[in-house]
Amino acid sequence: MKIENNAVIEMHYTLTNKTGEQLDSSVGQQPLAYLHGAGNIIPGLENALTGKSAGDKLTVTIEPEDAYGTRDDEKIQVVGKEMFTGIDNMEVGMQFQADSSAGPAIVTIAKIDGDEITIDGNHPLADEQLTFDVEVIEVRPATETELEHGHIHGEACDHGE
Ligand code: ZN
Repeated sequence: MKIENNAVIEMHYTLTNKTGEQLDSSVGQQPLAYLHGAGNIIPGLENALTGKSAGDKLTVTIEPEDAYGTRDDEKIQVVGKEMFTGIDNMEVGMQFQADSSAGPAIVTIAKIDGDEITIDGNHPLADEQLTFDVEVIEVRPATETELEHGHIHGEACDHGE
Protein backbone atom coordinates (compact mmCIF):
# COMPACT_ATOMS: atom_id res chain seq x y z
CA MET A 1 0.00 0.00 0.00
CA LYS A 2 1.02 3.60 -0.47
CA ILE A 3 1.67 5.92 2.43
CA GLU A 4 -1.47 7.85 3.32
CA ASN A 5 -3.12 9.19 6.45
CA ASN A 6 -3.75 6.51 9.07
CA ALA A 7 -1.03 4.23 7.73
CA VAL A 8 1.72 2.96 9.99
CA ILE A 9 5.17 3.44 8.49
CA GLU A 10 8.42 1.78 9.40
CA MET A 11 11.47 3.46 7.99
CA HIS A 12 15.18 3.86 8.33
CA TYR A 13 16.48 7.38 8.24
CA THR A 14 19.71 9.33 8.51
CA LEU A 15 19.47 12.97 9.46
CA THR A 16 22.13 15.51 8.51
CA ASN A 17 22.29 19.27 8.90
CA LYS A 18 23.23 21.89 6.32
CA THR A 19 26.95 21.31 6.77
CA GLY A 20 26.56 17.56 6.24
CA GLU A 21 27.07 16.64 9.89
CA GLN A 22 25.12 13.51 10.86
CA LEU A 23 22.74 14.30 13.72
CA ASP A 24 20.81 11.08 14.04
CA SER A 25 20.30 7.75 12.31
CA SER A 26 18.23 4.62 12.78
CA VAL A 27 20.51 2.53 10.56
CA GLY A 28 21.81 -0.47 12.49
CA GLN A 29 19.00 -0.12 15.03
CA GLN A 30 15.24 -0.64 15.03
CA PRO A 31 13.54 1.26 12.22
CA LEU A 32 11.47 4.26 13.28
CA ALA A 33 7.75 3.52 13.23
CA TYR A 34 5.09 6.22 13.29
CA LEU A 35 1.44 6.90 12.49
CA HIS A 36 1.14 8.94 9.29
CA GLY A 37 -1.05 12.05 9.37
CA ALA A 38 -1.07 12.41 13.14
CA GLY A 39 1.69 14.99 13.46
CA ASN A 40 4.05 12.41 15.00
CA ILE A 41 6.93 13.53 12.79
CA ILE A 42 7.87 16.93 11.36
CA PRO A 43 5.50 18.19 8.62
CA GLY A 44 8.14 18.44 5.87
CA LEU A 45 9.07 14.79 6.20
CA GLU A 46 5.49 13.64 6.52
CA ASN A 47 4.56 15.48 3.30
CA ALA A 48 7.52 14.02 1.40
CA LEU A 49 6.55 10.49 2.42
CA THR A 50 2.91 10.70 1.33
CA GLY A 51 2.35 8.37 -1.64
CA LYS A 52 5.57 6.37 -1.16
CA SER A 53 5.61 2.58 -0.71
CA ALA A 54 7.74 -0.03 1.02
CA GLY A 55 11.18 -0.20 -0.62
CA ASP A 56 11.18 3.43 -1.75
CA LYS A 57 14.24 5.49 -0.94
CA LEU A 58 14.24 9.26 -0.86
CA THR A 59 16.36 12.20 0.17
CA VAL A 60 14.49 15.29 1.35
CA THR A 61 15.84 18.64 2.43
CA ILE A 62 13.48 20.48 4.74
CA GLU A 63 13.51 24.16 5.64
CA PRO A 64 13.17 25.10 9.34
CA GLU A 65 9.55 26.23 8.85
CA ASP A 66 8.58 22.64 7.99
CA ALA A 67 10.98 21.08 10.48
CA TYR A 68 11.49 22.33 14.05
CA GLY A 69 10.61 25.95 13.45
CA THR A 70 12.55 29.17 13.61
CA ARG A 71 14.14 30.58 16.74
CA ASP A 72 11.92 32.72 18.91
CA ASP A 73 13.67 35.07 21.35
CA GLU A 74 10.58 35.08 23.53
CA LYS A 75 11.32 31.48 24.41
CA ILE A 76 14.51 32.62 26.11
CA GLN A 77 13.99 33.62 29.75
CA VAL A 78 15.97 34.30 32.85
CA VAL A 79 14.77 32.39 35.90
CA GLY A 80 15.99 32.03 39.46
CA LYS A 81 18.18 29.14 40.47
CA GLU A 82 15.46 28.02 42.91
CA MET A 83 13.50 26.77 39.86
CA PHE A 84 15.97 23.90 39.71
CA THR A 85 15.87 22.58 43.24
CA GLY A 86 17.38 19.17 43.63
CA ILE A 87 19.73 19.51 40.69
CA ASP A 88 23.39 19.74 41.54
CA ASN A 89 26.09 20.62 39.07
CA MET A 90 24.00 22.72 36.72
CA GLU A 91 25.80 23.22 33.45
CA VAL A 92 25.26 25.14 30.26
CA GLY A 93 23.78 22.76 27.68
CA MET A 94 21.81 20.64 30.17
CA GLN A 95 18.27 19.93 28.99
CA PHE A 96 15.09 19.58 31.00
CA GLN A 97 11.52 18.71 30.25
CA ALA A 98 9.31 21.62 31.24
CA ASP A 99 5.61 22.33 31.04
CA SER A 100 4.82 25.32 28.86
CA SER A 101 1.55 26.84 27.71
CA ALA A 102 2.02 24.93 24.44
CA GLY A 103 2.50 21.56 26.17
CA PRO A 104 5.65 19.79 27.26
CA ALA A 105 8.82 21.32 25.88
CA ILE A 106 12.53 20.75 26.20
CA VAL A 107 14.40 23.68 27.67
CA THR A 108 18.15 24.06 27.49
CA ILE A 109 20.28 25.96 29.97
CA ALA A 110 21.87 28.67 27.88
CA LYS A 111 23.74 30.68 30.55
CA ILE A 112 24.44 30.55 34.27
CA ASP A 113 25.20 33.82 36.00
CA GLY A 114 25.26 33.36 39.75
CA ASP A 115 21.65 32.74 40.79
CA GLU A 116 20.29 33.77 37.42
CA ILE A 117 19.78 30.99 34.95
CA THR A 118 18.99 31.70 31.29
CA ILE A 119 16.82 28.99 29.78
CA ASP A 120 16.10 28.55 26.09
CA GLY A 121 12.82 26.87 25.13
CA ASN A 122 13.59 26.76 21.42
CA HIS A 123 13.91 23.28 19.96
CA PRO A 124 17.61 22.37 19.70
CA LEU A 125 17.10 21.97 15.93
CA ALA A 126 15.21 25.27 15.47
CA ASP A 127 16.53 27.28 12.51
CA GLU A 128 18.22 24.20 11.08
CA GLN A 129 17.75 23.09 7.51
CA LEU A 130 17.59 19.31 7.74
CA THR A 131 18.18 16.56 5.20
CA PHE A 132 16.71 13.11 5.68
CA ASP A 133 17.84 10.03 3.78
CA VAL A 134 14.93 7.68 4.13
CA GLU A 135 14.21 4.08 3.20
CA VAL A 136 10.62 2.98 3.65
CA ILE A 137 10.64 -0.51 5.17
CA GLU A 138 6.99 -1.27 5.73
CA VAL A 139 3.57 0.33 5.28
CA ARG A 140 0.47 -1.12 6.94
CA PRO A 141 -2.94 0.15 7.96
CA ALA A 142 -3.20 1.33 11.57
CA THR A 143 -5.41 -0.61 13.94
CA GLU A 144 -8.50 1.03 15.42
CA THR A 145 -6.85 1.37 18.80
CA GLU A 146 -3.81 3.03 17.26
CA LEU A 147 -6.03 5.54 15.49
CA GLU A 148 -7.90 6.22 18.70
CA HIS A 149 -4.65 6.84 20.59
CA GLY A 150 -2.99 8.82 17.79
CA HIS A 151 0.20 6.75 17.93
CA ILE A 152 1.39 3.30 17.02
CA HIS A 153 1.55 0.25 19.22
CA GLY A 154 4.49 -2.08 19.15
CA GLU A 155 7.37 -3.36 21.19
CA ALA A 156 8.13 0.11 22.50
CA CYS A 157 4.56 0.75 23.61
CA ASP A 158 3.97 0.52 27.34
CA HIS A 159 0.24 -0.08 27.30
CA GLY A 160 -0.16 -3.11 25.06
CA GLU A 161 -2.74 -4.04 22.43
ZN1 ZN B 1 -1.74 3.86 22.74
